[in-house]
Amino acid sequence: MKLYRPQKIFIESAVAESQITSNVVQSLPDVPVEIISSSQPLLESAREQAPTLSRAKKYLLLAEHRGRFLKHCPGGKGRLGIQNVCCNYLVINYATNCHMDCSYCYLQSYLNFPYLTVYANHLDLITELESAFSVDRSRFFRVGTGELADSLALDLFTRYSVPLVEFFASQANAVLELKTKTDLVTNLLGLRHERHTVLAWSVNPPRLQKTDEHKTAAIPDRLTAARKCVDAGYQVAFHFDPIVQYAGWETDYHRLVDQIFDLIPAASVAWISLGALRMTGALKQVIRRRFPKSPLPFGELVPGEDGKLRYFKPVRVEIYQSMKKWIGLRAPAVPVYLCMEKPDVWTKVFGEVPADEPALQDAICACLQ
Ligand code: SF4
Repeated sequence: MKLYRPQKIFIESAVAESQITSNVVQSLPDVPVEIISSSQPLLESAREQAPTLSRAKKYLLLAEHRGRFLKHCPGGKGRLGIQNVCCNYLVINYATNCHMDCSYCYLQSYLNFPYLTVYANHLDLITELESAFSVDRSRFFRVGTGELADSLALDLFTRYSVPLVEFFASQANAVLELKTKTDLVTNLLGLRHERHTVLAWSVNPPRLQKTDEHKTAAIPDRLTAARKCVDAGYQVAFHFDPIVQYAGWETDYHRLVDQIFDLIPAASVAWISLGALRMTGALKQVIRRRFPKSPLPFGELVPGEDGKLRYFKPVRVEIYQSMKKWIGLRAPAVPVYLCMEKPDVWTKVFGEVPADEPALQDAICACLQ
């Protein structure tokens, strides 16, 4: 994959002395840097000039995160309060935006933040996590960084993974998931992780990677990176999301499942999630405008109760049942769960719905707790 290189780096003075800032500046010595007292005026003036996604990808902002880093994953509760089955996942918003360019990326219609931003006050994040985990040491926390940004896209410069992995290694009641579409795992291989970090890859058949996951690592490169992490003692995970239905999808996805388990021992796979293609109407318009050759908006998508466009329920159930069968043939003990689906779909796919959020999390994290 092509490595990201910003045209300019803006640094808020509050994080000028941060280790993350120093890592970035040292890794990109030729990129111009401007220290600013606050990013607020910069962001406001950029918004007035009608922010474009291409600008968001060209400029890197190292800023101070002033609110709470840790939040509940919004996946459990859909728009209009529609309740999906929730896996109790927490997200760390350590960065926003992404220099890669997936046609279906929901950030395109969600973020109005006109810069690729990394929150460089990582010590505040560690303090917040420590206090959250220590409130109840009998509770297990599953936490990820990949909601508003790819977990490893900038890691070669920021080395953000290093303090996070080392911190989680000392937390008996928490696991960190780093979710990526890159193959940038160099910083992770020599770290002390105590199996409290899971490296996860979002995957799709190679033909979809080529047409709709622009600037991401090729699928064989992602799997090779996953294998390196397994050899370094990590558990890994895979997210088939979004699963796209097209002529020949069964062959392609079945082959992908086999490719994964030809390279990765099933015992090293912590969990697998499945999520069929979904998008808001606004995102569909963005995809048509920015990626006119993408086939994604032309599938048979119907609005659900939460207003999102999805395949008809019987189609989604068939997709999930097929995926579950193919995975089960190679890795019957690996936990498989659905992302953003309601109980009736779970029942049709698995024959039952988890009793509650902790029960589902316990099933997913069985090999880690
Ligand atoms: S890698 Fe993830 S965050 Fe980046 S563009 Fe693709 S979907 Fe969006």
